[in-house]
Parts: sequence; structure tokens; C-alpha cells
Amino acid sequence: MKHRSTIFGSFLLLLFFTTSSFSQVKYGTVFQSSPIISLLTGVMNGNFTISKMKKMGDFGLGTFNGVDGEMIFLNGIVYRVDAEGKVNIPPNSEKTPFVTEIFFHADTVIKLNNTLDFANLDKFIDKALPSNNTVCAIKVIGKFEAVQTRSERKQTNSYSNLSDVLKNQSIFNLKNIQGTLVGFRFPSYMSELNAAGYHFHFLSENKNQGGHVLALMTKNVRIEIEFVKNIKMRIPSSQDFLNNNLGEKKLN
Ligand SMILES: [Zn+2]
Repeated sequence: MKHRSTIFGSFLLLLFFTTSSFSQVKYGTVFQSSPIISLLTGVMNGNFTISKMKKMGDFGLGTFNGVDGEMIFLNGIVYRVDAEGKVNIPPNSEKTPFVTEIFFHADTVIKLNNTLDFANLDKFIDKALPSNNTVCAIKVIGKFEAVQTRSERKQTNSYSNLSDVLKNQSIFNLKNIQGTLVGFRFPSYMSELNAAGYHFHFLSENKNQGGHVLALMTKNVRIEIEFVKNIKMRIPSSQDFLNNNLGEKKLN
């Protein structure tokens, strides 16, 4: 009996160890497929599917192949805001050229009952961070006086770069709306790997409006922050990526 309980004890210990080391990896680790510089310079197709995405996080943002709309990844569900401003749930087989995601787990929660615009919301969150060099995932839930978003139409021609695609973007002005901002903050030293500063996508609570956030005004919101400890990046192997000149910088 004594022997059996020792085995059982070891099993429990092993289980505990496995669970705790798994959660250490799971939380605080951002995963991204491709560096943002590749999307910005015209690599608009990837091989990374939504089903693969769902294994690496439950919260994030990105776009779809051909820049076919804006992606919001919230509570494990991937939403697409299309160029008409309509929201749909794409199939798991759909692919993305760029996504940033995490298993969201708030380390800090702050209530904000003031009306702040995008720039002042950034400054407000900055004050809650230990350093300007901090990377974090941010979820902002609640009521907004206004959120201005954009989305864009799928590109079918050869792509030059993202700013050309965005010349034909659709803009949506959402007023007095309840919903969630899904976003990340990357410091400027990471600007070729991800969007430097705060990058938010919005999804309304009724899941029928949203997009990439251009401007906003908060009303009553709850800000949840997860501090990022690790970044894991998938480097694409597509011909689009391999043939694209992303530039070269040398250490001096
Ligand atoms: Zn965006």
C-alpha cells in the first residue's frame, strides 16, 4: 500500500509540474506569424491557417490572405470585418499572412471612467507599465463614445505594398458603442517585427461591427494588460516572402 501511494504521489507531482510549466509557456508568450515588415512590403499571402492559429493563442489581431479584411481574435473565435463593415467567421482553412496572438491572461486590470482619445489612452496605459521597453497585450472592454475603424477589400492584383492597398480602405464611424479593443503594444526597437506603439482592432459587443482602429473616444472601460515575457515568431517559407527584399542591416 505504501509503495502504491508513493507511485500515486509521484504521478500527482509530475502532473503538477507539467501543468505549471505548461502555463508558464502558455501565458505571457506572444506568437506571431511573419514579421510586420513583410506585410508592409507586399507579402500578402501566407500558409498559416486559422486552425494552426487557434493552437497558439485565443486573442489577437491580423489580416487574411490578400488582405481580405481585418481580423479580430477574441475568446478563441476568429472574426473578419470585411470592406463593407460586415462581420463574419471565416473557416478554419482560411490563411493569414500576418497575425499576432497570445493566450490572454490579465496581469493588471484598471478601470477608466474618463473620456480619453486614442493618444491619451496610450499615455494612460503607458503609466501602468514598468518601462517604455515593455511589450504587452491589451484588452479594453466597455462603452466607447466613438470608435473609427477601417477595413479593406481583398487584393487580386499583384501587390506592391500595404499603403497602396489602404488607399481604397473603407472607414466606419461607430458612435456610442459597446465592445472590445483587442491589441498589443510593441516598443519602437521592435518596429520591423511588429507595429510599434499601440495597435488595436475593435469588435462590437453584438459582434456585427469593428475593424482596425484609427481613432477612438472611451466612456467607461476596463483595461486588462498581460505583460509579455516571450515572443515566438514563425518565419514564412513562401516564395513571396523568400523573394522579397526586406533589406539588410549589419551590426557595426
Ligand atoms: Zn490593424
